[in-house]
Amino acid sequence: MDKLRRSIQSFMIGRYGHDQLNFVLLISYFILSILNSIFFRNQIINTINIFIFIIALYRSLSKKISARRKENQIYLKWTKPLRRRVSVLQNNLTDRQHKVYICPQCNTKVRVPSKRGKIAITCPSCRREFTKRS
Ligand SMILES: [Zn+2]
Repeated sequence: MDKLRRSIQSFMIGRYGHDQLNFVLLISYFILSILNSIFFRNQIINTINIFIFIIALYRSLSKKISARRKENQIYLKWTKPLRRRVSVLQNNLTDRQHKVYICPQCNTKVRVPSKRGKIAITCPSCRREFTKRS
């Protein structure tokens, strides 16, 4: 077992490995696999899914590290607004004492106490004022 681990480690030297884009690709692969095997049973979806898996595998074994890093940066840049929304939603679901809003001008997250009714919020970063129901 130790020998296997060491040979995998030496195989991965100089290779790109794992990143956020690959994580999303693999999660999509697993979800699509399950959905397709239960509901759709569609050959085209299956082929697309195998393609997604091959891309993820290719990326993690790739030795062109700067190219893979660039792809991940593009992915992170494109999904930034969406990831911010998800993180605000997570905040608002877990922390009942506070509510998080996104500044309409500079997109900074602003946390305010909850259950205060309609309040005027001043963004700490750009000083823009906006009203929300907390
Ligand atoms: Zn702002």
